[in-house]
Amino acid sequence: MIVADDIEKARAIRLRDTERSWGFVPTMGYLHEGHLSLVRRSVEENERTAVSIFVNPTQFAPDEDFERYPRDLDRDLVMLKKEGVDLVFTPQAKSIYTEDFQTTVKVQEVSKPLEGRSRPTHFEGVATIVAKLFNIIEPTRAYFGQKDAQQSIVIRQMVRDLNFNLEIVVCPTVREFDGLAMSSRNVRLSQEERAAAPIIFRTLQLTAQMIEAGERDADRLRAFMQESIAIETMARVDYVSLADADTLRELSHLGGTVLISTAVFLGKIRLIDNVIIDVDTA
Ligand code: AMP
Repeated sequence: MIVADDIEKARAIRLRDTERSWGFVPTMGYLHEGHLSLVRRSVEENERTAVSIFVNPTQFAPDEDFERYPRDLDRDLVMLKKEGVDLVFTPQAKSIYTEDFQTTVKVQEVSKPLEGRSRPTHFEGVATIVAKLFNIIEPTRAYFGQKDAQQSIVIRQMVRDLNFNLEIVVCPTVREFDGLAMSSRNVRLSQEERAAAPIIFRTLQLTAQMIEAGERDADRLRAFMQESIAIETMARVDYVSLADADTLRELSHLGGTVLISTAVFLGKIRLIDNVIIDVDTA
């Protein structure tokens, strides 16, 4: 496994193996089983796998947790080596964003609702760094997690719009034993916050069950989600949403494929989760 913190070195490794298929998993590090599920899928489906570890400053707003985001590169590298990863790209922010940096990628409509409403600059930061990483690694396939559903949609749109020559693969959300979606941020939860956190997925599951039982009124379901999460007094809902899974437009009457999603604050930690349900066959 080669670790490259230099853009030219990472490129050179990639170009040494230009005839082979390369899978790529972009991450912000502090790896867990969710990340590793993407890595394993990439190792299975490609002759070579590259992983990037970069806590991208431009996708954090000034009041967010960039400084406090957990980091442990040595531990991450041990985990990746065990999985058979070929290249780990660990760039420094100053080489990614040089002093005269002035180009960004903004995916318009699908960046606006949900996460985009709460974090208006987030997806421009994400799209720009992912575009740069795609240009550096030139992967055959790139792997993303369903946990960040809107991120996958934004990236797919960017790939279509800008003609990136690669395939996007979205992998299922990996969860803790009690349903909490794995996230690097979970380690920052206090014991009490961690105990309250499973309400997020439980609420998503109960909402899906109500839809399966025939409920189609989105306002009633959104009200239910609010109330269900509020059972945990520590939890503060940022948003609850029932949206079309492709366009992310909020629904009034459910039909088609529906993204049930939420963002919840537990103390200072903001967690997101979602499930997708095909209403017509539910
Ligand atoms: P991050 O390091 O949080 O930027 O995540 C890197 C990639 O891992 C993204 O594509 C995430 O969607 C994905 N990911 C994070 N958590 C999970 C999870 N619990 N299950 C599956 N994929 C995940």
